[in-house]
Amino acid sequence: MKRRELSVQDYIDGVLANDRTILARAITLVESNRRDHQLLAQQVLDALMPHTGTAIRVGVTGVPGVGKSTFIESIGMQLVQQGQSVAVLAIDPTSTLRGGSILGDKTRMARLSMHTSAFIRPSPSQGSLGGVHRKTRETMLLCEAAGFDVVLVETVGVGQSETRVADMVDTFLVLMLSGAGDELQGIKKGILEVADILAINKADGDNLLAAQKARRAYKNAIHLFAQRDAHWIPPVLTCSSTLGDGVDEVWKTVLEHRETAIASGGFQARRHHQQKHWLWDIVEQEWMARFRERTKDLLHDVENQVTEGTLSPTSGALQLLAVADEG
Ligand code: GDP
Repeated sequence: MKRRELSVQDYIDGVLANDRTILARAITLVESNRRDHQLLAQQVLDALMPHTGTAIRVGVTGVPGVGKSTFIESIGMQLVQQGQSVAVLAIDPTSTLRGGSILGDKTRMARLSMHTSAFIRPSPSQGSLGGVHRKTRETMLLCEAAGFDVVLVETVGVGQSETRVADMVDTFLVLMLSGAGDELQGIKKGILEVADILAINKADGDNLLAAQKARRAYKNAIHLFAQRDAHWIPPVLTCSSTLGDGVDEVWKTVLEHRETAIASGGFQARRHHQQKHWLWDIVEQEWMARFRERTKDLLHDVENQVTEGTLSPTSGALQLLAVADEG
């Protein structure tokens, strides 16, 4: 059966009323590549903008297997039990294999996904840029307009995704494992530059001592790196997502980070920076798309000449830009 088409107003009303079916459809609309969908999505987002900005935005990253979904389930359950509503945006790693993203919320975060105050949205990884969906920012705004108190953005810790997610949240949490041998081997400088809080997960059973040792090592390492924020040295914690130990402490630290940033003005500054960055991201993407469209007859030829060495990259670029300018 074909679903009834929704009008812009239907989407707006539905999202504001926290209608989960309409929220899910609004996200699908935002993620769509179809031009008419994008235009519709834009109108919906523009109307909802005044209702956004109030949620606690937290990014959670870490290598596959570190325990991200277990951690989110644990912290999410605590929050909903305290009466808060939680939206989780995740890239579903199973979706490309299965052609859908249904498995995601069934097997991962099973308890949280059943709770009425929680909304879990796994997005297919097809549209993702290194572990984060290119429309995650818009999706986050939709969830805020729907009234969620907390938005958790989960990303797989691969390459660029950390910076992309760090660039859309207020607090960026990095989950780590205590490894055998040199604790600092696995530390990536890039991660430390964007992390607001580090937590060594799986601090339980036989692994407890190793986790505590790793914590001390990371704590010392943090001081070696230039601080992004003069008012905040990223704390290093340990937790067990399966037992729930320390998870509450991590959340308290998230709130502490938020309060410190609000007090120092860093919170607003970060959000302003993020908005500006987003603006330029879109300009660049759109501009490049137009550039490619306008130069498509010439592009391949110029590229070939440049790779063969018969044309310098500068001359090639100027030729293409001249053509694009005419278009
Ligand atoms: P993700 O890939 O980062 O989302 O990791 P998962 O949450 O799927 O967890 C991977 C595996 O680690 C699962 O088998 C979990 O049960 C286990 N795990 C997650 N957190 C903990 C923890 O705190 N302690 C222990 N012992 N196992 C954990």
